Amino acid sequence: MTDVVQHILEDVYALCAADTSGAVADYIPELATADPDRFGICLTTADGYVYEVGDTRVPFTVQSVSKPFTYALALADRGEEAVAAKIDVEPSGEPFNEISLDPVTERPRNPMINAGAITAASLVAGDTPDEQFDRIRRSFSRFAGRDLELDAAVHASESATGHRNRAIGHMLRSFGVVESDPDAAVDLYFRQCSLIVTGRDVAVMAATLANNGTNPCTRDRAADPVLIERVLSVMTTCGMYDGAGDWVNRVGLPAKSGVAGSVMAVLPGQLGISVYSPRLDGHGNSVRGVLACRELSRRLELHFLHVG
Ligand code: GLN
Repeated sequence: MTDVVQHILEDVYALCAADTSGAVADYIPELATADPDRFGICLTTADGYVYEVGDTRVPFTVQSVSKPFTYALALADRGEEAVAAKIDVEPSGEPFNEISLDPVTERPRNPMINAGAITAASLVAGDTPDEQFDRIRRSFSRFAGRDLELDAAVHASESATGHRNRAIGHMLRSFGVVESDPDAAVDLYFRQCSLIVTGRDVAVMAATLANNGTNPCTRDRAADPVLIERVLSVMTTCGMYDGAGDWVNRVGLPAKSGVAGSVMAVLPGQLGISVYSPRLDGHGNSVRGVLACRELSRRLELHFLHVG
């Protein structure tokens, strides 16, 4: 079995490496310095076995792959009802950085787009933004199984150019969705996005979701099992933004992408996958990430609607 999975990973890697389409994100200037040719695939099983090929130990910033984890923390800290009063769970069909709220509910449509993610960050427990950030950092570290650190250069770069997210933050404040200082909430979100991970870390974080909140490598409880179902549900419907429909159709796994070039996918009870490759498609999803997940899903029969 071990050899079969490793062999499939290597095969998919070779196939997808040939695709050099897409472009590295440059709206956060520091992200544009990434090597576009980096490519790594990592698969971690829910009992902690790690398969990897390519650049799985290269550091990059977690970006929007952070969103499910902060959402889990907001749910843990405030309870499902209080969070639901602030953030919907409806797919938006819009880009991740859309400056919009649902016109009827006047809430962000879901926690996977920036409006919902900034709100989720504002709900994390802590008396000061620094305490909130420390709570986020420690929670992500439990998911990854090692101490994660901030990339100060990426944080500074996003902070210097993040006007659109600030507009979203102030919109949220004006509608009473964010009740604290909106600039602090946005900066907290920038910091969570700037945490440094590797492809291997992301696969372990995914496997922790797959393993109902317990890190399969360290055996640490990172989140309450009752919350995992909530988190995986919104990842399924909203994780790939306006590419979510095609993703569910062709890959069929709860997932989340980030603009640094990573894609994280989860097969509940079974395994977590991460693909890192910085060239992105028009939705802001890694081109090879999407392609590799499609191939892995097909070859390993991972689609959650697949009937053996
Ligand atoms: N920090 C990035 C932003 O808000 C994250 C976006 C993403 O990864 N899709 O623009």
